Amino acid sequence: MDSYLTSQDYSELHIFQDKKIDFFAAICLHTKGRGPAIGGCRFINYTSKDDAIQDAIRLSNAMSYKSAISELAHDGGKAVIMLPKHEYDRALFLKKFAECVNSLSGKYITTVDSGTTQEDMTIIKNHTPYVIGYLTGTDADSNPSDSTALGVYTGIKAAVKLKYEKSSLQGLHIAIQGVGSVGYRLAKLLHADGVLLTVTDTDIEHAKRVAVELHANFVEPDNIYSVACDVFSPCALGRIINQNTISQFKAKIIAGAANDQLATEDMSDVLYNMGILYLPDYLLNAGGLIHLAMQMQDKNASFIENEVKKIGDRIYRMTATAKEFGISLFQVVQEAARKIPYNAF
Ligand code: NAD
Repeated sequence: MDSYLTSQDYSELHIFQDKKIDFFAAICLHTKGRGPAIGGCRFINYTSKDDAIQDAIRLSNAMSYKSAISELAHDGGKAVIMLPKHEYDRALFLKKFAECVNSLSGKYITTVDSGTTQEDMTIIKNHTPYVIGYLTGTDADSNPSDSTALGVYTGIKAAVKLKYEKSSLQGLHIAIQGVGSVGYRLAKLLHADGVLLTVTDTDIEHAKRVAVELHANFVEPDNIYSVACDVFSPCALGRIINQNTISQFKAKIIAGAANDQLATEDMSDVLYNMGILYLPDYLLNAGGLIHLAMQMQDKNASFIENEVKKIGDRIYRMTATAKEFGISLFQVVQEAARKIPYNAF
């Protein structure tokens, strides 16, 4: 773990523990001086404390890139709470976590992520002001997943125009891996545009229900990679583009919401050489973050929607740069995110 901790690119790592109630949390910040770090709080099962800490580090970095690329005045941050293997008092855990967030005096603003809900954020709000994504009863309240799905949908439309020179999605075939919060919303948007869908999910019954509702095909989870389709949209897990899956892809576009899709960065070169347009996750799935950052500025729903749709413009602009230099879109986005200077916005 020592060598991992020293090799990673982050600024601050805070560990919090209360052995009496088996509470263990970590907050990692990737600070570039752009503004307070925003990032979700995962409250999920981890195999070990090291595993939880590594998740916080990896994802805080990704949040920093996402924020930079989306031109938001925020740094990257991520929090994790280890889900106890026994019964626990959720309200107490959320209060404890809120106190951890509070101790950072506003350097980190927490929000929803895997295993936490807007209702949880509403509880956290009782104990710290440094939280966003709680329920307020206004129109901008809508779930950030709506904006994430809208961003991915906008990005898919841009990619289809760039790769297939089509301005409509009508009649295209798109395979979605994971029809949870984002994947299901995306599926509905695509269905409304006349897209033929293939869906999968490890929750087989749920995926079959979605398939019936949206007149989609259902395939078993392991078969989704090789579906002969126009776009493959990973909306479930990270690291699904790896040595085992890469040779299976038939789609010429990969564009989905899942964080951390490439098992290793060199996978992006393999995709590029295969003629596959890969839309980097932190460019494409920034809708939820944009939504929350705008909500902090009291912007209304239509303003937020316009900001989210700018993801499409970024894809056109960066693809033009990629073409000019004969490199992949991934390389352009990565370089841009790394180079965004301190105090850029
Ligand atoms: P979710 O938990 O609601 O949905 C994920 C779905 O994937 C679940 O239905 C789950 O059963 C399914 N799944 C898990 N493993 C699978 C597998 N091997 N094969 C097929 N299906 C599988 O999560 P979500 O909020 O929809 O997020 C989806 C992805 O997008 C995650 O990687 C998340 O980090 C990322 N993301 C989400 C948001 C957001 O606004 N929710 C924002 C940015 C990024």
